[in-house]
Amino acid sequence: MIPLFKVAVSPTALDRVAEVFASGYLGQGPRVAEFESALAARLGNPRVVSVHSGTSGLCLALRLLDAPEERDEVLSTPLTFEATNWAILADGRRITWVDVDPATLTMDLDDLERKISPATRAIIVVHWTGYPVDLDRLAGILDRAEREHGFRPAVIEDCAHAWGASYRGVPLGSHGNMCVFSFQALKHLTCGDGGLLTLPGDELHERAMLRRFYGIDRTADRLRGAYDVAEWGLKWHMTDLNAAIGLANLETVDEQLRLHRENAAFYDKELTGVPGLELLQRSPDREGSFYVYDVKVDDRPAFHRKMEAAGIMAGLVSRRNDEHSCVAHLRTSLPGLDSVYDRMVSLPVGWWLTEQDREHVVATIRSGW
Ligand SMILES: *Cc1c(COP(=O)(O)O)cnc(C)c1O
Repeated sequence: MIPLFKVAVSPTALDRVAEVFASGYLGQGPRVAEFESALAARLGNPRVVSVHSGTSGLCLALRLLDAPEERDEVLSTPLTFEATNWAILADGRRITWVDVDPATLTMDLDDLERKISPATRAIIVVHWTGYPVDLDRLAGILDRAEREHGFRPAVIEDCAHAWGASYRGVPLGSHGNMCVFSFQALKHLTCGDGGLLTLPGDELHERAMLRRFYGIDRTADRLRGAYDVAEWGLKWHMTDLNAAIGLANLETVDEQLRLHRENAAFYDKELTGVPGLELLQRSPDREGSFYVYDVKVDDRPAFHRKMEAAGIMAGLVSRRNDEHSCVAHLRTSLPGLDSVYDRMVSLPVGWWLTEQDREHVVATIRSGW
């Protein structure tokens, strides 16, 4: 079976983890600081806060907004992993679903603009499969909303699929919003579990540093009780064990990402014009990271059967979140997502594919289903 995902662990990870064991310090210590410096340099943003997971990063980002009051609504996409949206619920806020653009599978920004209201506290966009949302257009929409409502909703970018992606030549993570990366086992860059929150300003950065560990200043003289919690947080920080794995994988992730992109370019070329299959729309001003390779197909059940029989793992990465029972009361009409949901399918595109593998994928699809 050609898998849809594969865990990428650098050969040096074991030695780095052994060093942490030998140090006798397993929690948040020097390796976390070293990992954060390396990530800040990669992203071109010094205001980074490592966390225990992408989910922790989303919870922390939402906690940095005001306490839920009259502006308790978060506009979000239903086409994402459940972590994005359940973090909103965990923060005691209300989700309003925004439709999906069938051409890119990212948020429909026209629908977003229509739905921003005086109750909107924040917007979460997801760079689905690592394809960047049009961030300049999004900023323009927020400028107009601010003029109309006298308040600018915060933007949180869910970059869980998008390590290494860039928009207009600048890496995601430094476009003026809060951004959350995931270093979960299956993501491009993994720590086993881990995540990163990037901040657009120093004040937010300082608050996030405190709130990732209960709001406690770890440099204070705690044995003398010389500390105060002004804003509470929970246990969202990263450990040296996880940071050591991340540091090792930072050495190999660029080459892996290059292979994801090379395989995607191969599919772009070889799958163009295949009857019953439609490629996603992509703009030359941004570079995706191709976590998976999404296409739209007619008769998806038959497509699945064909791929399975050929030993190729293909399918849905996530179920549309708005159809889960726990959020049934929030359902709304989403014609864009309806038009595409039964045709979406993710194909394997990662570094683990051999040349024969990707040729096999293309030949299988071209022979029809
Ligand atoms: C993986 C993922 C998350 C959550 O990240 P964790 O590190 O697993 O908590 C959030 N959003 C999306 C889109 C994801 O794929």
